[in-house]
Amino acid sequence: MTTHLASYAASDATSRGRRFHEPAPGHRTEFQRDRDRIIHSAAFRRLEYKTQVFVNHEGDLYRTRLTHSVEVAQIARTIARALDLNEDLTEAIALAHDLGHTPFGHAGQDALNEKMREYGGFEHNLQSLRVVDELEERYAEFQGINLTFECREGILKHCSIPNARELGDIGHRFIDNTQPSLEAQLTNLADAIAYNSHDVDDGLRSGLINLNQLKDVALFAEPYQEVISLYPQLNERRTTYEVVRRIINMQVSDLINSTNKLLQLARPDNIEDVRKAGKSLVVFSDEMHQKNIDLKRFLHKNLYRHYRVHRMSSKAITIIHKLFDTFMHDTRLLPPDAGNRARALESEQGASGKARAVADYIAGMTDRYAIREYRRLLDPLEPT
Ligand code: MG
Repeated sequence: MTTHLASYAASDATSRGRRFHEPAPGHRTEFQRDRDRIIHSAAFRRLEYKTQVFVNHEGDLYRTRLTHSVEVAQIARTIARALDLNEDLTEAIALAHDLGHTPFGHAGQDALNEKMREYGGFEHNLQSLRVVDELEERYAEFQGINLTFECREGILKHCSIPNARELGDIGHRFIDNTQPSLEAQLTNLADAIAYNSHDVDDGLRSGLINLNQLKDVALFAEPYQEVISLYPQLNERRTTYEVVRRIINMQVSDLINSTNKLLQLARPDNIEDVRKAGKSLVVFSDEMHQKNIDLKRFLHKNLYRHYRVHRMSSKAITIIHKLFDTFMHDTRLLPPDAGNRARALESEQGASGKARAVADYIAGMTDRYAIREYRRLLDPLEPT
């Protein structure tokens, strides 16, 4: 736990509270309680079997959504503590940020969004908020897990304007262009630090990218030169680890230094000043920002669009589309709880209500559950 908080950090004292009033926790801060609720949620446990880049069954050492989220939390907490920001809130946001992700990574999300186009679309950030606000059923008195406003605003990183209008207070900042807490801002960048560096590691391990290609990418090439001149005899795997940990460290240090400088200029007194600052106050230097973009571009071109990843994505699209069409056609094929919910939402809101319930059900699936459901529903020879 952070011992000293900057005046502009999020705190229990300035929190906008929870949607349903609850007594203050006895031995924890409000944000520790948020984190604990997230860790105990079903959606959090499912992250273990959801794709980051590589489908879960491709190998035991690749990142999953769960290990990705833990790496984001670890990086974000380091930054929060160095900046005297609220480490508990930061950790909670990081652990929750991907709760709404579909099976099969971005391919799964795009496939579901395509199917939901005429029913209000599907956004994974918004779905993460739906998970904690509505879909987790653990409490007698309310739907969801009743997180603090600050945790919820951190989870909702992006949001379209029409959706923001429907969300009330949590959507306001997308309409009036105000900022979330510094804790939310830094967790967003910690997410990018984590996936850029672990995707290099997983990409190299899988053999889909190689060291030679990465020599043109500054964020990799500079620490790589340092490592091979210090340890010319080191084998490739350990060299990669030495490089990847330097990549993380360089970005984290740059972010802390650049943000400290900007905070000294902007001089926010409190979290309201942060919200009204007109721009994000957690930043990389211009040079690091550019290096980040270059690495991201490299990964897009060479890893995320690699033909083997593309084959996986193509299968994922088929699975998601077929599951969606099948359930939309006949909601009695859904398990009873999900089916009842689909029919209840259909009678309230029509086809878009039914579609939302089907999307919620599919988005909650792990990769392997989606594959199993596909087989059970669509292969006549498979046991149901
Ligand atoms: Mg993420």
